[in-house]
Amino acid sequence: MNILISACLLGVNCTYNGIGKSLDCIDELMEKHTLIPVCPEIFGGLPTPRTPAEILENKIITKTGEDVTKEYETGAEEVVKLAKLYQCRYAILKDRSPSCGKGMIYDGSFSGVLIPGNGVCVSLLEKIGVECIQESKAKEFLSRLG
Ligand code: SF4
Repeated sequence: MNILISACLLGVNCTYNGIGKSLDCIDELMEKHTLIPVCPEIFGGLPTPRTPAEILENKIITKTGEDVTKEYETGAEEVVKLAKLYQCRYAILKDRSPSCGKGMIYDGSFSGVLIPGNGVCVSLLEKIGVECIQESKAKEFLSRLG
């Protein structure tokens, strides 16, 4: 099955501070499924490294006050194109990101406070029926698929 995944969870150095992450069940995921790496912030034309941004009142604002809503939305639309092209029903996405975060995101104050909400990309993917899975629930998701 084709599954979208945040590129940073595959170790790609695309986070705002230019590092990659890991996922403990990545080997099993790759063995059983075809993973399609996506990074909506890069797809939206933002550089790496980049100034961190958070969602505030339906806009995406960087720590230095720049409005990057358009770049975030463009990147999310690109991910949606890939979801359709590869007929993905699921996406495994990085926790807490203003693009990829599902369920909990930072509150826009850059003080580490989390509030309920979804990143821009998650909102758009869910609109077209793609189920978004938090990275922290990836193992559980794998067992569900069997
Ligand atoms: Fe990772 Fe998503 Fe941020 Fe790109 S936008 S670095 S894929 S969390």
